[in-house]
Amino acid sequence: MIKKKSREEIKLMKTAGRIVALVHDEMKHVVRPGISTYELDKIAHDIIRDNRAIPTFLGYHGFPATICASINEQVVHGIPSKDVILQEGDVVSIDVGATYRGLVGDSAWTYPVGEIKPEVQKLLEVCEASLFAGLNTIKNNVKLDDMSGAIEDVVNANKMGIVRQYGGHGVGRNMHEDPFIFNYRCGSNVILKTGMTIAVEPMVNLGCDDVYVLEDEWTVVTRDGLPSAHFEHTVAVTDDGYEILTKL
Ligand code: MG
Ligand code: MG
Repeated sequence: MIKKKSREEIKLMKTAGRIVALVHDEMKHVVRPGISTYELDKIAHDIIRDNRAIPTFLGYHGFPATICASINEQVVHGIPSKDVILQEGDVVSIDVGATYRGLVGDSAWTYPVGEIKPEVQKLLEVCEASLFAGLNTIKNNVKLDDMSGAIEDVVNANKMGIVRQYGGHGVGRNMHEDPFIFNYRCGSNVILKTGMTIAVEPMVNLGCDDVYVLEDEWTVVTRDGLPSAHFEHTVAVTDDGYEILTKL
């Protein structure tokens, strides 16, 4: 069942989303060669706690950290570690959620570490562009499938891979609510309505679509070992568009 949110709930989600955006704003500055993903996790944890929120991911189905930090061929759900030190030329996807007074904000971004290869830079640009192509279709009474299709069209036009096994979701009092949001057309009959809050999150691969989960039972990696990118915002559907909740 898709739960529409009240004005008051959306206000709280904006606060949660602002805290998530504060984390990303800091990541922009601290992601650099030589820092470990453990240190990034600690920075994120402190920002969320300092703002009287709860790290949503920590303990979620047993996940052991505040952020997911997924490097290069890792798509999502990478576990932060003291042993994972960022290197020049890497990309790191950081996904983070904060819960404020019971409501969740969820946003991911892929960061370059120093100088990256032009084709990887292009991957980041295409993934971010696909997110906004999807978001820009959103308003009251639009078909969710049309939003998914707008994401797919950008990725296809650039001959990159779309992760099929994972997608976006409704979000609110729980991190994962209905509907599931595909990043490609799949014939969903969901109609977006004012007051729905959703996390839209294309995962785009430089190579093939296919991914699998490592033995740690969390980290999702590309089948062909080529890099992946992940951009996500939590948004509220409005009468004539959408409002990004995970921003400063
Ligand atoms: Mg997320
Ligand atoms: Mg999400």
